[in-house]
Amino acid sequence: MTDIKKGALLVLNSGSSSVKFTVFQVGDADQKIALYFGGQLDGIGSSAHLKVKTAAKELLADDSWEHLDQGTVPAILPHLLEWIESKLPADLPLIGAGHRVVHGGETFDKPMLITDEIIEKLTSLAPLAPLHQPQNVAAIKALAASRPDLPQVACYDTAFHRTIPAINGTFAIPKEYTDAGVTRYGFHGLSYEYIAYNLRQNKPDLAKGKVVVAHLGSGASLAALQDGVSIDTSMGFSALDGIPMGTRPGSMDPGVLIYLMREHNMDVDDLEKMLYYKCGILGISDISNDMRDIEENQEPGAVLALDIFCQRTAKQIASLAVSLGGIDALVFTAGIGENGPIIRDKVCADLAFMGIKLDAEKNDTRGVELISTEESVPVMVIPTDEEFMIAQHAVNILSA
Ligand code: AMP
Repeated sequence: MTDIKKGALLVLNSGSSSVKFTVFQVGDADQKIALYFGGQLDGIGSSAHLKVKTAAKELLADDSWEHLDQGTVPAILPHLLEWIESKLPADLPLIGAGHRVVHGGETFDKPMLITDEIIEKLTSLAPLAPLHQPQNVAAIKALAASRPDLPQVACYDTAFHRTIPAINGTFAIPKEYTDAGVTRYGFHGLSYEYIAYNLRQNKPDLAKGKVVVAHLGSGASLAALQDGVSIDTSMGFSALDGIPMGTRPGSMDPGVLIYLMREHNMDVDDLEKMLYYKCGILGISDISNDMRDIEENQEPGAVLALDIFCQRTAKQIASLAVSLGGIDALVFTAGIGENGPIIRDKVCADLAFMGIKLDAEKNDTRGVELISTEESVPVMVIPTDEEFMIAQHAVNILSA
């Protein structure tokens, strides 16, 4: 490994109307990375707005970009890059960019330097993630066009799960479709990889064991890690599978889809819209997709949505414990996992039969990592950091 020069590394997560970005400072001597500033440009195409905070959580920008509204993410990206570079001191030049890319298909099992061939391959994977992959690729292309000198690295949400064995990864469908790639890919891989990294640094004994990680955010999934390696996960071919999410249903009877097509005249676009945007907590409650609204609401729909979310999460944890042949630790992470003591409490209450018991006071105290009783299987809250993971990968690749 050779040292890369001191500089700033840009991490991008690009959607259809928003770009989340984080800038890390890379030290020249030890190649250590530290958060510099980060934020979001959202409302692109309607009323673009830039909000950025420094590492110390001070506001660096909270500005309307409507005057600059270029309509699409690729069109506005060069302006964002210009803004970012204007905030960097002369001794901290931009040295590279890392992208979160949703799908790496069957072959991409690790992050990589982006070339024209890689862009072509990623474009061809769009049918596997039609709502996200084209946005990720468009951002890569826009950056390459405006700054061809800037090395870019792709980090895949699916890559971490390429270790899942056939017994957990294969759907019970005709083999010809399995052979054509209709299989469990799994998502949130960068989050699970960060948790595995964090455990290796801070709890090396647990890191070697059987760990179930519950990434509970507006998108939610769980993974089974054995010695830091993914052996099973709740999401499948698409990010619709597993437990119910903010607006996605999680696992459901596929016969429902046939029925809706036949009897309710729904076509593939109607189904896609319903499954990605109208189901899950929003669908059940008919109130909101935001877990905070659901927790505060006593309407029967909200109560049912909360109960279903917690019980399906507990069932999934038990299922992943079967894949692992036991459980040495349970980790909660992401928006709900990190900030939702009521939900953690309800999930763990259903898992008492597995030796899981929370310490109520610790569970209620923000910032406490170990929230279980002394006799319990350890239950932890670990804030995830997918951007750090991308930056770490990019530094490793750029210095290779
Ligand atoms: P993420 O996708 O990881 O940003 O997580 C977003 C989800 O976290 C939303 O459903 C929020 O309602 C949820 N969330 C954030 N704070 C809390 C909280 N204090 N209690 C319960 N859920 C929360």
